[in-house]
Amino acid sequence: MGYLCIDLGATKTLIGLYGDEGEEVQITEKPTDHFIEQMEQVLGEITHRANIEKVAVGSAGPMDEENLRVFPPNLDMDYLDFSEGLEGYGEIILLNDCNAGAVGEYVYGEHSAENLVYIAFGSGIGGGVIEGGRLLRGWKGNFAEVGHMKVGDRFECGCGGKGHWESYCSGDNIPMVAEEVIGRKYDDTKEIFDDYHKGDREVKELLEMVCEHNAIAMSNIIDVYNPELISIGGKVALEHPEIFLEEPKEQISGNINDIPEIRKCDLKRRSTIYGLRAICTGDHELQ
Ligand SMILES: [Zn+2]
Repeated sequence: MGYLCIDLGATKTLIGLYGDEGEEVQITEKPTDHFIEQMEQVLGEITHRANIEKVAVGSAGPMDEENLRVFPPNLDMDYLDFSEGLEGYGEIILLNDCNAGAVGEYVYGEHSAENLVYIAFGSGIGGGVIEGGRLLRGWKGNFAEVGHMKVGDRFECGCGGKGHWESYCSGDNIPMVAEEVIGRKYDDTKEIFDDYHKGDREVKELLEMVCEHNAIAMSNIIDVYNPELISIGGKVALEHPEIFLEEPKEQISGNINDIPEIRKCDLKRRSTIYGLRAICTGDHELQ
């Protein structure tokens, strides 16, 4: 008996194997493309065909949670169907990865709140909302796709839209914004932040624009979801809190709702997998 929790990221996938008391047996990291291609084999090697009672999967959306399918725009296929790859592993639960992250922070975070919004800045931007202790899930499991909120009228988003928060401020998009705004080619966000820390004036102005759009989006989140706590996670934000947390926090103003506490998440890169574990073990019940 035991549980399997799978945090399917854009480039890396975390696979957690837990015993029947929820104790961590093993956490394995695999490249996501390898995991998708070899799902049965990878999971067979991890579980040794042990009896798994439940599997919880956290993935970027959009998704159809009931039919266990995800349709992320960055995927090289029409959709990914977990009912095929996970056949024989007991009950399968599919959740948006940032919705699961909100559950992780709510249940196990040191700084929790009954009304919280979790936001993760990675290759994209995702969110999850706990309202009165309950995860809001929406139609087909697609609640709080905050990354696709319109915050401006520039830059193409991976979803095909324009001016979305993600198109201004996500790890994958900041290099494209840099090329368009200051005409420089960067391979990744890290190189941009290296220039920023060297005091490059153009890069500083570019990142001021990122801060400003983070503040616009967070202001919208405060007025729409009315949280007591905004918990910020994801690799990009955890590495550069000044651009994704501290400075935007200073710029939030003019809201009808009270400004909540805004802070780094407590579980670092493990919010999603902890949330999936909470759902498997019953530490959090989905409603
Ligand atoms: Zn979009």
